[in-house]
Amino acid sequence: MASIFTRIIQGEIPCYKVAEDDRFFAFLDINPLAKGHCLVVPKKEVDYLFDLDDELFAAFHLFSKKVARAIEKTVPCARIGTAVIGLEVPHAHIHLVPINGLGDLNFANPKLKLTPDEFAKIAASIASHLD
Ligand code: AMP
Repeated sequence: MASIFTRIIQGEIPCYKVAEDDRFFAFLDINPLAKGHCLVVPKKEVDYLFDLDDELFAAFHLFSKKVARAIEKTVPCARIGTAVIGLEVPHAHIHLVPINGLGDLNFANPKLKLTPDEFAKIAASIASHLD
């Protein structure tokens, strides 16, 4: 069965998309640790990040860098923290989270509750800052 992220990429399940190319897709995490918290996903459905072949792994990180730069231009923060967890969704993804301190990247923190309008505005703003 297709992963929830494959279903998002295929447009079966809605998301707040921020970026896409032929191999990768980025959208807002629906349970964000911070405004601008994005997930970056390879379209190829591989569970574990380190099972990606070398070329796709490298390209995945370059794509994530592009998205991180766009988040930086949208959300005031000290830097973009990254995390790979994958315990909930078995489809490799990188979390990109605007942070100002160590505690901001703690996934046990309460998640933000944003309105659909807020999500949409953040996604549009990040998308507008992509190079
Ligand atoms: P993990 O697999 O542990 O890295 O966690 C999966 C992440 O995907 C969590 O932060 C969820 O909030 C996020 N997530 C799950 N379903 C969706 C969805 N439909 N849209 C956006 N984010 C999602």
